[in-house]
Amino acid sequence: MARYTGSVCRLCRREGCKLFLKGDRCYGPNCALTKRPTPPGEHGQARARKMSEYGLQLREKQKAKRAYGVLENQFHSYFENAANQKGITGENLLITLEKRLDNVVYRAGFGSSRAMARQLVRHGHVRVNGKKVNIPSYLVDVNDEISIREKSAQSDYFKGLREGTGKPVPKWLTLDSANLKAIVSALPAREDIDLTIQENLIVELYSR
Ligand code: SF4
Repeated sequence: MARYTGSVCRLCRREGCKLFLKGDRCYGPNCALTKRPTPPGEHGQARARKMSEYGLQLREKQKAKRAYGVLENQFHSYFENAANQKGITGENLLITLEKRLDNVVYRAGFGSSRAMARQLVRHGHVRVNGKKVNIPSYLVDVNDEISIREKSAQSDYFKGLREGTGKPVPKWLTLDSANLKAIVSALPAREDIDLTIQENLIVELYSR
């Protein structure tokens, strides 16, 4: 399946919740979902009808995939790994998604959206424990240090971030804005993930 290239705000309107795909705009009054909280399309309003159980499960999966920018095959393999781990499968799944390097770069505030964070990683601006890692799906671990390449840190964009973005940073990350570094001080827990996803429905979907 190809990556979606249309309007990302349509995805939020389709899922009926904020997926935070558009950077700073998501946090202000110009959020498209705040302005038009109905499904997209000419008959969007009419489509907001009661869904089947399968439909609800499918929507939760789409929500998670879209929020983290993950395609089906990779998402399914995350699910299988989560099912093989100890603990609650749905929570394991979300925690794995949260540990992706592109998500960590976004959570630290180095990119204003996960898509932008993914670009920063792909273009080699990000270091993990001092080494270049340009794989957005790389999974971080406790005590990993995520930093910005020295040369990149001289750009106006990154200089602007040294003052801090004012956005909340999850408690499992320790941010040193002045030095453009973040340490993974703990593994994320379910309650640290602010997305309104019912992960149990994703588990039910894959268990059909
Ligand atoms: Fe668009 Fe962001 Fe609002 Fe979603 S949360 S509708 S991506 S502005």
